[in-house]
Amino acid sequence: MASAAPAVDEEAPASPPPSDLGKGVENLVIIGSGPAGYTAAIYAARANLKPVVFEGYQVGGVPGGQLMTTTEVENFPGFPDGVTGPDLMDKMRKQAERWGAELHQEDVEFVNVKSRPFVIRSSDREVKCHSVIIATGAAAKRLRLPREDEFWSRGISACAICDGASPLFKGQVLAVVGGGDTATEEAIYLTKYARHVHLLVRKDQLRASKAMQDRVLSNPNITVHFNTEAVDVVSNPKGQMSGIQLKRTDTGEESVLEVKGLFYGIGHTPNSQLLQGQIDLDDAGYILVEEGTAKTSVDGVFAAGDVQDHEWRQAVTAAGSGCVAALSVERYLVANDLLVEFHQPVREEKEKEITDRDVEMGFDISHTKHRGQYALRKVYHESPRLVCVLYTSPTCGPCRTLKPILSKVIDEYHEHVHFVEIDIEEDPEIAEAAGIMGTPCVQFFKNKEMLSWL
Ligand SMILES: Cc1cc2nc3c(=O)[nH]c(=O)nc-3n(C[C@H](O)[C@H](O)[C@H](O)COP(=O)(O)OP(=O)(O)OC[C@H]3O[C@@H](n4cnc5c(N)ncnc54)[C@H](O)[C@@H]3O)c2cc1C
Repeated sequence: MASAAPAVDEEAPASPPPSDLGKGVENLVIIGSGPAGYTAAIYAARANLKPVVFEGYQVGGVPGGQLMTTTEVENFPGFPDGVTGPDLMDKMRKQAERWGAELHQEDVEFVNVKSRPFVIRSSDREVKCHSVIIATGAAAKRLRLPREDEFWSRGISACAICDGASPLFKGQVLAVVGGGDTATEEAIYLTKYARHVHLLVRKDQLRASKAMQDRVLSNPNITVHFNTEAVDVVSNPKGQMSGIQLKRTDTGEESVLEVKGLFYGIGHTPNSQLLQGQIDLDDAGYILVEEGTAKTSVDGVFAAGDVQDHEWRQAVTAAGSGCVAALSVERYLVANDLLVEFHQPVREEKEKEITDRDVEMGFDISHTKHRGQYALRKVYHESPRLVCVLYTSPTCGPCRTLKPILSKVIDEYHEHVHFVEIDIEEDPEIAEAAGIMGTPCVQFFKNKEMLSWL
């Protein structure tokens, strides 16, 4: 974690005046909806803070964060058989919603933490608040190879710890791009699982620390290719990655290296641009927090997850820091006499409608958004609302683009519509029964009748 002690901003008054209480000033705004943002939202909502969460839309990645772009997550505690990234994030979102977090799928475009109350402005609204948790994550830098999108999560990965042990890569020959500490660490880590690892370095030397260089250069399972860059991915007739097109940066000579996986170790870009000039960042743009805490250089502004962590970058570490940030906010609000508690209305009627099977399947018809065939059957038969069904598949790029757009529309009409996402690989029989030939595909139903098909 970025841990150099941040200097306290002189311009922001240390303790905000209590006169804002009850005057349209929120306890807490959370920016970001990855594991850090949702965990912070769950803790803050459970503490009756009614946090306002900006889940994002486009600028810093999709709502749900980086795990929305992966299939299996095998190392998040509590899921012995693994869980897909989108499922895990969906569960976190539901948990935050259940405890009363107010969620908006909007990008934050402007933040002012230089005066109090703080001001957070999105595309659709402006919110004043006493505290903020920045959980905007980071994005892995990409090479932008021509076929990169086609093979992202199907051969190309930016996280060796996350994906190295997956059956796709185990026992295979793999390549890592980069010459710094991240790339050398990834290469060494991958030798646990791979038959052999090729490290592709653009320059004629490694940038990594001397110790890492020695470890890489002395490892018989790693071949370092200096003056070499990846130009594109090569596939076999089945459409699977079979190699990488390489180019020598000194001679321009091209060749193909046969590998089954390509890992990027070229760094991350933290999504901290909104805070530039307002709180302390390190040279790479990571938010500086006081060691072992979520405190930034401005009192009342906290940071969690990858935006303040250039080292560990895991879902569970992001979630843990989200918890620390939310508990710190609660203490901060209490210490400054700013806390206004919100209690959720009791929903006896709705709870009576939930059957044991619904509980087992995690289904609650009072929620707007659902996933899977059980939910589809329930809303198809029982919902008086318009039912919107989105069919997706894990490798469908346009599905990822469409989902946040559709989700935003659903949010606008949330009491009038039920939304169900069907992954056609998870629920092939329902996709077949619905006659789905490709994804994304959207169907609308009302009173068990299909209204339209897009
Ligand atoms: C392909 C892939 C696979 C991975 N697999 C694993 C794995 O198996 N196990 C594991 O532990 N980790 C894995 N990771 C790492 C893990 O996903 C990250 O460490 C984790 O998601 C970080 O969480 P976060 O909450 O800090 O940020 P993110 O998940 O990056 O979420 C950031 C959030 O902030 C939002 N945001 C950004 N800017 C704005 C803005 N201006 N306004 C509003 N919202 C904004 C984004 O929309 C997003 O919701 C993987 C990462 C990738 C890329």
